Amino acid sequence: MASIIILDELTANQIAAGEVVERPVSVVKELVENSLDAGAGRIVVDIVEGGLAAITIADDGCGMSGEDLKLAFQRHATSKIKCASDLSQIRTLGFRGEALPSIAAVSRMDVTTRTHDELIGNLAEVEGSSLAKIVSAGCPPGTTVAVKDLFYNTPARRKTMKSPSTEGALCGDLISRLALTRPDVRFELNMKGRRVFYSPGTGSLIDSVTAVYGVHQGREMIAVNVNREGLLINGFVGKPSLSRSTRNHIIVIINGRYVRCLAVAGAVEEAYRTLLPQGRRPVAVLSLTIAPELLDINVHPAKLEVRLLEEEKVAGLVTCALRDALRVKAVIPSTQIVDRKRNLTERNQSQITFTGQTESAYLPSVRPPVFLSERIGVEAVPVDDSVKESVVEACLLAPSGFDKEVKAGEEKTVYDSQTKSLPVLTVIGQLLPTYILAGGEDGLYIIDQHAAHERILYEAYLDNEAERPSQYLLLPVTLELDYKEAAVLTDWVLWFTDAGFLIEHFGGNTFLLRGVPTHFPAGQEKELFLDILDYFRESGSGASRVEFFDRLAAAMACRTAVKAGEKLSAPSMATLLQRLAQTDNPFTCPHGRPTVIQLSYRDLETKFKRS
Ligand code: ADP
Ligand code: MG
Repeated sequence: MASIIILDELTANQIAAGEVVERPVSVVKELVENSLDAGAGRIVVDIVEGGLAAITIADDGCGMSGEDLKLAFQRHATSKIKCASDLSQIRTLGFRGEALPSIAAVSRMDVTTRTHDELIGNLAEVEGSSLAKIVSAGCPPGTTVAVKDLFYNTPARRKTMKSPSTEGALCGDLISRLALTRPDVRFELNMKGRRVFYSPGTGSLIDSVTAVYGVHQGREMIAVNVNREGLLINGFVGKPSLSRSTRNHIIVIINGRYVRCLAVAGAVEEAYRTLLPQGRRPVAVLSLTIAPELLDINVHPAKLEVRLLEEEKVAGLVTCALRDALRVKAVIPSTQIVDRKRNLTERNQSQITFTGQTESAYLPSVRPPVFLSERIGVEAVPVDDSVKESVVEACLLAPSGFDKEVKAGEEKTVYDSQTKSLPVLTVIGQLLPTYILAGGEDGLYIIDQHAAHERILYEAYLDNEAERPSQYLLLPVTLELDYKEAAVLTDWVLWFTDAGFLIEHFGGNTFLLRGVPTHFPAGQEKELFLDILDYFRESGSGASRVEFFDRLAAAMACRTAVKAGEKLSAPSMATLLQRLAQTDNPFTCPHGRPTVIQLSYRDLETKFKRS
C-alpha cells in the first residue's frame, strides 16, 4: 500500500466544498449569511443561469480591511469565534471559517470590500482556493462577492445540477425564507437582470410575509407574540382557510436562523389538529428566541438543523401559544375584496376586471353546481338533501363521465365480463370507515377506499387525454405564489394549458387562473391548483410531457378521490369495486401503494386451526 500523504490545500478545500457547496443555492446561503453577520441592512443578490454562470452578492455591512481580506480565504479563518467554548454562546450565522475557501475552491471568485473608516477599498481575485492578486479599489463601504463558473473544475458535480430555472427557484426560495427571518434587512433578488423579489426591510415581519406570500395571505395571518418561561414566540400563523397539502409552508426560525426543526413544526401542526381536515397542513412563520445554551446548532454541515435541549417543553409552549392565538382570533376566512381601482393602477393591467379574494363561480349556463359528484368526474345528479352522507355516494353511484355505459345495479354483469384480474366481490361492510370489506371467491378482501378511488380516477383522467376541455371561471382566481411554485408554473405553463388550465400572468409571482379542466371540482379550484403545484414542487421539475400528464392525473386523482374516514353506503362501495375491477391495474394506486389486500380461506383455516 502507498504511504500516507497530506493533501494539498486545493484538494482539501474541494473535499470540504463537497459538503458545504452542494449547489448554487448553498453558495447564496453562505454568502448572504456572511453579509448578515457583517451587519448589513441591505443585500442585493444577482443570479445568472440559476447561479451556475454567476452569483453576485453585494452588502452594506462592515466590510473587511486589506489584512482581513488576505486571511479570509484560508481554511478555518473566522472572525466569529476564538475557541470551542464560544460555540455555546454563538450569535452569528457562520463560525466554521469554511465557506469562502470552499466556494473559492470550486469557482472563480472576486471580492471587493471596504470598511466604513477607510477611504479606499480592496479587490481580491481568487482562483482555485488561492489568492491570485489583491489590489486597491474604489468602492462603497461594504462587501461585494462575485462567484463565476461554479463547479468549472469539478465536472462531476456540475453534471448533477438541475435546470437553471430549478436552481434559480431554489435560490429564490432561500431569499424569501431569509427575508422572513430578517424583516429588518432589505433583500433584493435579480435574475437575468430583472428584479424578481424585494422585501422592504422595515423591521416588521408582516411586511416580509406580504412580500413573500402576497397581500391576500398577509391579511389572513394571525399574529402571535408570546413570552413564556423565557421562550419568546413571535410570528404569524395562517387561518385554517390557508391550509396547504405539504409542510413546506411551516417556517421555523430559531434565534434568527432558519432551521428545519421537526419538534417545533410538529408542535405547530398539533395546535391545528382539530381545525384542519386530515392531510392539510398549516401555513406559519414562527420565530423563537431561546437561550443559546439550550440549543445545539453544530449538528449539520450547512447548519440547517438544530437540536433543542428541552425539546418537549418548547414544543408544548409553542402548541399552547398557537392554540390561544387561533382561539382568540376569528379563524373564519375574510371575504374582503381588494380595492379594484387601486389594484389596477398598481398592477397596471388594463384587462383585469376583478381581483381580490374570491370564491370562484361558474357561468351558470356553462355548468350548474353539482355538489361533490364533480369530484370523480361524473355528471350532475340530483342529491337529496336529507341524505347528508350520500353526497359522497352520489359521486360514486352516478354514471361516470368516462364510462357512461356502466350503471349502478348492473355491476355484476359488467364486472364479471370485463375483468379477470380482480374476482367478483360482495361488499360486507366498511371498517373505520376507511376500508371496504368484501368477500370473494378466495377469501376476504380489504380495499383501501381512497387508494382504490385514486386508481379509478387516475386511469380515467389519462384515458381522456385526447380531449381536455376547459371551463371558464366567472371570476378568475388570484394565485399569489412563492418562488418555487411560480417557477414550476412558468416551466410548465404550456402543458398546464394543454391540460385545460387557463392561466394568465398578472405580474411578479401573481397569476390568474381563468379556467380549469372540465372535471375539476367546483369551488375548490384555488386549493386544488395550489395542491397540484405543491405536488410538483415536491417531485421536482425536469419531467417529460408524458410524465407531466401522468403526474397531473395522479395529483388530480389524489386530491379528488374519496378520503379515508368518509362513510360510504353499500351501493357506493359496490360501484367503487366494480369500477376498480375495470381499471388496467387495480392492485395499486398511482403512487404504487396497494389498493387491496387479501386474507384467503386457506389462511383463515390455518389461523383457526381447522386444517
Ligand atoms: P465564517 O463565516 O464561518 O467565519 P467564512 O469563510 O464564511 O467563515 O468567512 C470568513 C471570514 O471572512 C468571516 O469570519 C468574516 O470575518 C469575513 N467575511 C466574509 N464575508 C464577509 C462580508 N460580506 N462582510 C464582512 N466580512 C466578511
Ligand atoms: Mg460564513
